[in-house]
Amino acid sequence: MDKDKVEDGVVVSIEYTLHVDGEQLDTSDGQGPLQFLAGHGNIVPGLENEMSGMKIGESKKVVVQPVDGYGEFDEKAFMSVPRDQFPKDLPLDVDTELTVRDDEGQGRYARVESIEGDNVRLDFNHPLAGAELHFNVKVIALREPTDEELEHGHVHEGGHHH
Ligand code: ZN
Repeated sequence: MDKDKVEDGVVVSIEYTLHVDGEQLDTSDGQGPLQFLAGHGNIVPGLENEMSGMKIGESKKVVVQPVDGYGEFDEKAFMSVPRDQFPKDLPLDVDTELTVRDDEGQGRYARVESIEGDNVRLDFNHPLAGAELHFNVKVIALREPTDEELEHGHVHEGGHHH
């Protein structure tokens, strides 16, 4: 059965642009629509909430505050790690982005903020932490997820699978 509005458990295809501080940071132009499974935390909560109930062809401007986007900037989310804790052949420079395993084995995003002597200072804030996100979204299509997508909690089209 076709779905007629955005609600939890529906695969939503959107065209979008994302602006931060007046600068376009991301867009679906040239990449094709973004698909996500609504209600499964696949996109930032502030955008997902505002899209609830939208119909095919409908457009909306959505402004998302950091708390409903990529989080507030956390002054404490920094850590200094000795260079020799990283693989020798791993190139490390300022702004290098890494995935660091935490104590529970979860991958966490980190960016090299600075390198001082033998210490690498990592910033664990999301690159868009603290940013007010300005989205323009248009709903292109709605469909039912497959059983597998529902089980995994994300969409499998568009080159992604894990
Ligand atoms: Zn999957």
